[in-house]
Amino acid sequence: MTDMTVFKGNGVCAAAAIGKASVFRRKAAAVKREKITDTAKELERVEKAKALATEQLNGIYEKALREVGQSDAEIFEIHIMMLEDEDYNESIKNIIETQQVNAEYAVAVTSDDFAEMFTSMDDTYMQARAADVKDISNRLISCLCGGEADTAASDGKMIVCADDLAPSETVLLDKDRVLAFVTALGSSNSHTAILAGNMDIPAVVGVGEGFLAAVKDGDMLIVDGHTGEVFISPDEQTVRRIEAKQAEDQRRKQLLQELKGKENVTVDGTKIDIFANIGSAESIGAVLANDAGGIGLFRSEFLYLESEDYPTEEQQFAVYRKVLESMEGKKVIIRTLDIGADKQIGYFGLDKEDNPALGLRAIRICLTRPEIFRTQLRALYRASVYGELGIMFPMITSTAEVEKCRAMCDEVKQELKAEGIPFKEDTELGIMIETPAAALISDKLAALVDFFSIGTNDLTQYTLACDRQNAKLEAFVDTHHEAVLRLIEMSAKNAHEHGAWVGICGELAADTALTETFLRMGIDELSVSPPLVLPLRERVRSIDLR
Ligand code: PEP
Ligand code: MG
Repeated sequence: MTDMTVFKGNGVCAAAAIGKASVFRRKAAAVKREKITDTAKELERVEKAKALATEQLNGIYEKALREVGQSDAEIFEIHIMMLEDEDYNESIKNIIETQQVNAEYAVAVTSDDFAEMFTSMDDTYMQARAADVKDISNRLISCLCGGEADTAASDGKMIVCADDLAPSETVLLDKDRVLAFVTALGSSNSHTAILAGNMDIPAVVGVGEGFLAAVKDGDMLIVDGHTGEVFISPDEQTVRRIEAKQAEDQRRKQLLQELKGKENVTVDGTKIDIFANIGSAESIGAVLANDAGGIGLFRSEFLYLESEDYPTEEQQFAVYRKVLESMEGKKVIIRTLDIGADKQIGYFGLDKEDNPALGLRAIRICLTRPEIFRTQLRALYRASVYGELGIMFPMITSTAEVEKCRAMCDEVKQELKAEGIPFKEDTELGIMIETPAAALISDKLAALVDFFSIGTNDLTQYTLACDRQNAKLEAFVDTHHEAVLRLIEMSAKNAHEHGAWVGICGELAADTALTETFLRMGIDELSVSPPLVLPLRERVRSIDLR
């Protein structure tokens, strides 16, 4: 019997590892404050240490360039610049001269001051920069002491366990020997986390300080970068479960190697876009890692579900902008608020309904509560200049609803224009086809919009009259039901006849048994959860429509 202990942090690389722990020991070079008389000599020591630190950082930059590429290696160029930062150097000089103290102490105090300043900033990106200033300062102190690098003891492959790892320490990890790493502290926004993801090292950060007290060298560990879980002395069942996950990761990695950067094209040359569905900006990493061509559905309601109160225009704008910027010009379809039915939010104060799936939900709420809708549309249009945005309305059943949505968009655009706020005039507008009514009048709807995205989850529920939440109905839900397929085909045909493009973003989009059917219908885009992008690409590339 083993005594399994579980810690939970943030997984920063979606992969798992099983192996022995190796605790990262810092040579706790506790910096002492020493009085000195020759301040000029101390300043000279700082200059020499800086030269050495810069030389080391150049080496680290070269290693990073080879292993993680230009954009992630850049942080070390920034480190080199930070070492030359005027304020930083001024502070060290000042402390040495005014307090007549040793250089190590002056660097340590400066490091703490700057780190504290970064930590107290509102912006999470800037907060994470505290780790960078500590990283360069520790290097400088170690150069002042003529110190060697800290090490993790081990024979063979290991899972590094540390209080925290600086970005440079992360890059210096030997990928041939490090199976994974776990840090007690650290955030998923740090460069350490970003580097781990790109070096493809399974890692979990921020498991809490109790971890280092619980783990010792040689302990068997599992690090699950998917869930952020770390198991000390895992039981057999957990080991088997993780091994199965590793096999799955392995297959995905192989797919990535074979298919990353390749087109979604059939043997006969028919192309289709494969995009990804997300519920928050945090999933962008997975979207990019799985090489999705865009975001076909951003379920914006999660922004509301995760808040205690209505998210403000500014809060929404920041998220939409981030998503658009991260996608660097690739299409991003953001769906306006889709709550009600299975997604209830207390602060909306909605009445209890007998049939919530047929009740006041999604666009019906937006059209009855225009102030909520307006706030979201303003945030969306303001963000539109940062990428290739498409705005999509859910649960449409009539042309009148689409006309009202369009009118509201026009009002918002007028407002922004009057306020001198830039937005993209020709931002695409689309609707979800997820009610039989919408599919049946898709000819009329297509004339009003730029695109359709077929929500097969709701379309199936409403067409087959089967509550999607009711597990007892599974036997009655034929996901390939001809009625649903006919509605999809009809919608695709009508979209094309009226110059609109058409995608599918419900779960059926990922069903590879239907990929050929969808291609034959002329579907332009399939949007699936990020890990399913490449399996779908693999399927598309195996099909011959001739
Ligand atoms: C759908 O209904 O198919 C869909 C994609 O939307 P959701 O699952 O969010 O209702
Ligand atoms: Mg839906």
